[in-house]
Amino acid sequence: MTKRVVLIGHPVAHSLSGAMQQAAFDALGIDARYELWDRPPLALAEAITEVRGDDFLGANVTIPHKERVVPLIDRLTEEAHAIGAVNTLTREGRRIVGHNTDVPGFKVALDHLVGRQKMPRAAVVLGAGGGARAVVYGLIRESFQRIVVFNRHLHRAEGMVRHFGRQAAHMELRAMPWHDSIIEAELAKAKLLVNATSIGLDPAESPLPAEVIPPDLLVLDLIYNRTRLLRDAAAAGATVADGELMLLHQGAAAFSLWTGQPAPLDVMASALAAARAGGVRSAEGELTGAPGDAVELDAATPAGTAD
Ligand code: NDP
Repeated sequence: MTKRVVLIGHPVAHSLSGAMQQAAFDALGIDARYELWDRPPLALAEAITEVRGDDFLGANVTIPHKERVVPLIDRLTEEAHAIGAVNTLTREGRRIVGHNTDVPGFKVALDHLVGRQKMPRAAVVLGAGGGARAVVYGLIRESFQRIVVFNRHLHRAEGMVRHFGRQAAHMELRAMPWHDSIIEAELAKAKLLVNATSIGLDPAESPLPAEVIPPDLLVLDLIYNRTRLLRDAAAAGATVADGELMLLHQGAAAFSLWTGQPAPLDVMASALAAARAGGVRSAEGELTGAPGDAVELDAATPAGTAD
């Protein structure tokens, strides 16, 4: 019987995960099909019930369901529980287990961005959704001493800070209201900026005015094209990276969880590059820019471990 893996999100049309995961199944001769399920929030519970069936290896969960799916799951890994967001599902019989492979994916992207420099200790994070939770958790684990979170809706950032309260007891984790002047002041004290909002999917839009970006900053945008933020930051002299490595490595970790086998990283990286050839897309697949904007992948970077 052909096994099934589904991506549950809203929207999911044109997702790059499909090309990446299907290429990996085919390369290893695994009889499995990766499907895209566009399910609005009201249809999420029904989708999770369906994934309990014997024909499923598991699923990915994406925007906007990563937090919403948590109460629908039978068991969370310790890490997914600590984060409060899930992007990968596996089956134990009819029970569903929730994992978060965004964290190992983020770690590979962060290590690659920092390179041979010393790991910074202070960061500014933009956003408070499922992706931002994986980022903040990853930074706490990297022993950052100060993390300031800005979000359009401040209460969501405050909720996230409360969620991480105990884990962040030894350091300073704060939510602040989104004002350019406050962000500028915080960036002057930080070495790392992570954009975990969806602002930038439109290549003309940036979450920040170019003037507030200092030249010595490290900037990671989870969106995986050369966003306006990354272009402005590079022009200011900052070191920049997009979200493509994170996408690749969260996908590789999910593949290993479903199949019990190491992911064929080169195959997945090539499939991603080929899927992007027709246009640059967000992690969820929306077309966001011109084909020429594509950024080279570094498939040689070691894979993150599955949680
Ligand atoms: P969520 O829906 O959970 O969160 C979206 C975030 O973006 C929230 O902080 C939201 O703010 C903010 N936002 C959205 N639109 C606006 C706007 N117009 N103005 C200001 N803020 C806005 O999504 P995720 O956290 O799952 O994903 C966020 C981004 O990160 C997406 O672009 C996604 O593609 C990317 N991502 C990439 C990954 C990768 O592997 N490279 C992995 C995970 C995410 P508010 O709370 O105020 O609505």
